[in-house]
Amino acid sequence: MNKVRVRFAPSPTGPLHIGGARSALFNYLFAVNQKGQLVLRVEDTDLERSKPEYEEEIITSLRWLGLNWDEGVDKGGPHSPYRQTERLSIYQEYAQDLLDKDWAYPCFCTEEELQEERAALMAQGEMPRYSGKCRSLTEEERQAHLDQGRKPALRFKVPENQVYVVHDLVRGQVTFDSDNIGDFIIMKSDGIPTYNFAVVIDDALMGITHVIRAEEHLANTPRQLMIYEALRFKRPEFAHISLILGEDRQKMSKRHGSTSLMEYRELGYLPEALFNFLALLGWSPEGEEEILEKQQIVGSFTLERVSRSPAVFDLEKLNWMNQQYLKKLDPQELDKRLQPFIGATTYSEQVAGLSSEQRSWLMEAVRERMVCLKDIEHLLPLFFAEPSIEEEAQQVLRQPGVKEVLQTLDHKLPDEENPEAYRQCLKAVVKELKLKAKDVFMPARCALTGQVHGPDLNMIMAVWGKKETSRRLQKAIERLDD
Ligand code: GLU
Repeated sequence: MNKVRVRFAPSPTGPLHIGGARSALFNYLFAVNQKGQLVLRVEDTDLERSKPEYEEEIITSLRWLGLNWDEGVDKGGPHSPYRQTERLSIYQEYAQDLLDKDWAYPCFCTEEELQEERAALMAQGEMPRYSGKCRSLTEEERQAHLDQGRKPALRFKVPENQVYVVHDLVRGQVTFDSDNIGDFIIMKSDGIPTYNFAVVIDDALMGITHVIRAEEHLANTPRQLMIYEALRFKRPEFAHISLILGEDRQKMSKRHGSTSLMEYRELGYLPEALFNFLALLGWSPEGEEEILEKQQIVGSFTLERVSRSPAVFDLEKLNWMNQQYLKKLDPQELDKRLQPFIGATTYSEQVAGLSSEQRSWLMEAVRERMVCLKDIEHLLPLFFAEPSIEEEAQQVLRQPGVKEVLQTLDHKLPDEENPEAYRQCLKAVVKELKLKAKDVFMPARCALTGQVHGPDLNMIMAVWGKKETSRRLQKAIERLDD
């Protein structure tokens, strides 16, 4: 069997969306699993909407997700160029070939004429499709249009009365009746190919063996099969992967929250969590385990286990997964990943002033409290701002005996500044005052942080050290006296 070659072929008309990222990922997984190759091709024939910035953003997003490819627009390869606007002469050559072999004809219809035609068909309750009007123009009529300076588009002659069958690797057998498809444009009058034409030529010339893409392209596939047939190209296999739906079962859109991969990056989702999460959007491994390392996913990915039914994007599951991956990071790595997020707060200098030990305690303290890295923004004030005492904490601090707890704790603060020493110190207060643990820990927490919940108190104290902890205790005692 031929070596597997797959491609991801984004149009640079916007940022990389979750759906596009999932298609890219499935191509990547299939390629690596099959020891094949992945090509990154840019389909920028929509001249108005395509932008180099989007191409760059898409590539950055794919790399951030942890994908790589063997050939493509950014790294070249034996089938260069990989950007469609740089391949126009290739499409023109094949268009001429189809024209010469009578598979295509020039169409002079204007946009207005086409619109009228569509409206008329729809008014009769029929499917709008091109009437084939220009198919039967005589040579003289064609010449007359050309003499008027009209620039024709090129239309493909759809064979009549044919059934086109796709043996889709995900959807099974799907048939299309050619009579439902009007002659379609393959080259626009400005010499730019349409998607259906360029995609076939590129996939064929680039030796693509499997076309894995979103379900929305299934309807395009019969048109593409016709071009394969006309140009006598070998057809690839097709696998159309199901839509991604929001939790309300509607097609995923902005309404459902963030849709572009970069937004997830900016919120502080970890790429390895998204890799895992996206892999499970429409694919499932054998067994129940959901937290899967990249290697496990690559090793077990098959198209047979890609589901035909739509995948539902479950944000809570992504959040849970992200937390699982956050828990796995060692403190230095977590610190590294948090850097840009800490840098964006007003506390970055204070964090930079901590010793490396204090920083690792800070990491331990915040790790369990974050869903994504950006949550650090809400956690840092706890360490570096003056506490504002929330109502529940006020109530705790109004209990009798609190002052004695705080004073005893202050006296007992150890010189050794580490979490274990602070833990022992809190326990010693419990013992000395003959109280229940919570009657020491709770007022101490409320006095020091102003909140009734939060990271382990001894960790927070270790980040502060003796001087700052004592300062906070004394301030709290003063407040009690007021
Ligand atoms: N450029 C197309 C898109 O972004 C690619 C479709 C395909 O993979 O054939 O939707």
